Amino acid sequence: MGVIKILEKEILDREDLVNLLSAEAADRQLLFKKAEEVKLREIGNKVHFRGLVEFSNICGKDCYYCGIRRSNREAHRYNVTDEQILDAARFAHENDYGSLVMQAGELESSAFTNRIENLLREIKKLSDGKLGITLSLGEQSREVYERWYEAGAHRYLLRIETSNPELYKKYHPNDALHDFEKRLGCLYTLKSIGYQTGTGVMIGLPFQDRGHLAEDLLFMKDFDVDMVGMGPFIEHQHTPLFQYRHQLLPIQERFDLALKMIATLRILMKDINIAAATALQAIDPMGREKAIKVGANIIMPNITPGKYRNDYALYENKPCVDEEPEECKNCLDVRIQLVDGKIGYGEWGDSKHFARRTEQRIDHG
Ligand code: SAM
Ligand code: SF4
Repeated sequence: MGVIKILEKEILDREDLVNLLSAEAADRQLLFKKAEEVKLREIGNKVHFRGLVEFSNICGKDCYYCGIRRSNREAHRYNVTDEQILDAARFAHENDYGSLVMQAGELESSAFTNRIENLLREIKKLSDGKLGITLSLGEQSREVYERWYEAGAHRYLLRIETSNPELYKKYHPNDALHDFEKRLGCLYTLKSIGYQTGTGVMIGLPFQDRGHLAEDLLFMKDFDVDMVGMGPFIEHQHTPLFQYRHQLLPIQERFDLALKMIATLRILMKDINIAAATALQAIDPMGREKAIKVGANIIMPNITPGKYRNDYALYENKPCVDEEPEECKNCLDVRIQLVDGKIGYGEWGDSKHFARRTEQRIDHG
């Protein structure tokens, strides 16, 4: 079936999605146009900021794709102080960012849990409850997720990385710490606690094809996710997956495929929040803005204190490492206008999908 016909359908199946992800030339433009229309109709042209604080690259896990994995002895490890995290939160609040994302390597310990809990309370206090907080701190127990929710976090991002358990095994050590079912279980736990729940995948991984990506999109739909952050996989020389670099799609094709994933997801899940991942900007300086044009509505400007940013090296050529937060903000203002967007300063910009699905639950008892 041609792309025009697929775009008229109410329900998209795996084959339709593969066709959309394969669209080239005029068909690709049709896909992008449709995604833009759906976004403007369903959620409008507002783009919301989440100030991103990558506060530590110390990680207990060993994912085969990630530059800050435990076994990478070349990584220079850092841990931003509490005071610096609070300064970054103050910056986000004073500049009307609306929300903050706290992201780091994965640690499971009572000291770490307590630290985050205290920071959440402090951030809520300094912003008079106004700064929305998203966490991205990996797999934790229900009790830990509950404590952080009680302390003020209301969104959580946990990428499933790939929804295919067999592929998952190729990207992770085969042990209890890197268990697909456990990660999936965490997503269900987060949702049941009441978090706006976000997931996502990497696009252009070795061994992955368009069929897998179509299944990833269907996974997001079936899980009924509230937010998605997904971006291109970018190889890092000090990781095991680097050996497969010759099998990867050329970097520009990975970028293009990521844009098609965003556009297709917007058509599939009309009212969710979709983030324009930083990895897009690592490939194309206007990458995030291009993603906004074809369906994304969230940007995460990096507000990690400058001297640490080079060390949160998940992949090579990470952008914006030399810029100060203020410069990031000014250039983003202009860039978003270029793609007909408008920044929703001082607003949380919560997922409309979340509001609808929770209202529905209340309505139905
Ligand atoms: N440690 C937490 C976790 O894994 O959920 C949060 C931080 S982790 C660095 C955030 C995301 O970075 C991962 O979910 C993964 O998708 C992405 N990432 C890691 N290595 C990457 C790479 N080489 N290219 C693109 N994205 C990568
Ligand atoms: Fe650690 Fe997250 Fe990187 Fe995996 S992706 S090694 S959990 S920081």
